[in-house]
Amino acid sequence: MEVMTTTISDGTAIRQEMIAACNNLAHLGFFISTWGNISVRVEEGMLITPSRMDYAQLVPEDIVLISMDGRKLRGERVPSSETALHHLVMTTRPDMGAIVHTHSPYASIIACAQRALPVVVEDMAQIIGGTVHCAPYTPGGRHHELAEAVTSALGDEAMAVLLANHGVLAGGRTLEEAMTACRVLEKAALLYLHAEMLGGCYRIPDAAVREERHRFLYKYGKPEA
Ligand SMILES: [Zn+2]
Repeated sequence: MEVMTTTISDGTAIRQEMIAACNNLAHLGFFISTWGNISVRVEEGMLITPSRMDYAQLVPEDIVLISMDGRKLRGERVPSSETALHHLVMTTRPDMGAIVHTHSPYASIIACAQRALPVVVEDMAQIIGGTVHCAPYTPGGRHHELAEAVTSALGDEAMAVLLANHGVLAGGRTLEEAMTACRVLEKAALLYLHAEMLGGCYRIPDAAVREERHRFLYKYGKPEA
């Protein structure tokens, strides 16, 4: 798999960007109370939000630095309870530079039905790039089991996956892209559910999805050939 991420170093700016993202997700209703977490790949390993802390109170030092072999390198706080999940996804998907786990409501409806979300709109084709599959249900507290189930349902194409009866995980090359993926996923879930009520949602053909994704990854912001 192609490594698409640019290496950034652990620093205050990226930590502040993570805190702003948490508050943004809380504002959107994708994070409720302290449920939801974010990780970002850095030169030194992986930055992750702390466990059970009010996001409105977070300061840059509260973000925890974990090495890529799973050891805590920097920070006084307890890392997110979903660290194993972020760590395994980061390890198996070098194209993801940032990962966001939320409980956003419309995508969670599909996760509660334990169904997959097909690609139904162009922005989803571009930023998510494939069908969002649903990982089987794993009871709370079995963090390693959840990590294995989610990583295998995610596969190596789509930038998002559903967690049965739980929520969603979305990634991007950067935190900004992962945040966009969360919002695009939630909108696609809303569209899919409503179109199904109208008698059936049509999906975008696979070849068109691949073309849109390729255009987004390699051609955006560059002069037309
Ligand atoms: Zn969760």
